[in-house]
Amino acid sequence: MQFVLASHNKKKMDEMAAILSGLGIEVVPLPENAPEPEETGATFEENAMIKARSAADFTGLPAIADDSGLCVDALDGAPGIYSARYCAGTDEERNAFLLHNMQDKDERACRFVCAIACVPPAGEAFTVRGECEGELLRESHGTGGFGYDPLFYVPAYGCTFGELPPATKNEISHRGRALRRLREALEKRL
Ligand code: IMP
Repeated sequence: MQFVLASHNKKKMDEMAAILSGLGIEVVPLPENAPEPEETGATFEENAMIKARSAADFTGLPAIADDSGLCVDALDGAPGIYSARYCAGTDEERNAFLLHNMQDKDERACRFVCAIACVPPAGEAFTVRGECEGELLRESHGTGGFGYDPLFYVPAYGCTFGELPPATKNEISHRGRALRRLREALEKRL
């Protein structure tokens, strides 16, 4: 059975395909001419659902979409759902902006959050969530991953997401956890 993934990100596509392959699910990319819906939701779940419904409506296929970001306690959960557009520019510039906003904060607790919305072939649409707890460093460490990874320190591993091998990151990350919950939910439904 085919599910369309509401993302043009090849990395996400491969990760999803790997985790869902055992269920007889083939993940197919969103056509290039599909509309990009505005992410007007107030939560990760609402934004993921907006993207999944839009992809399902456009293609007529069951659909999966994710929405993720970094929530920092000392900033009342910012950048949160605005993580990708926290400030204009590159990942490095967004990291510098975040460090600037955190320069006088001793409380460094933060978490990555990933919500995945699914419009299944039959039955109600649903969402699952995965989270990963960490601490925001005061400087970047590591060159792996993307986005806020070099600032996200994982105490249990003694390093940042930017220093972890991709397979280890996938095991413990918010996205890996949400994907495994999606797999469990689909196993029950299909
Ligand atoms: P999106 O859900 O792919 O739009 O991601 C939202 C934004 O959250 C990304 O652009 C990154 O800034 C941040 N983000 C989400 N997941 C990760 C991650 O695993 N590592 C680093 N940054 C992430």
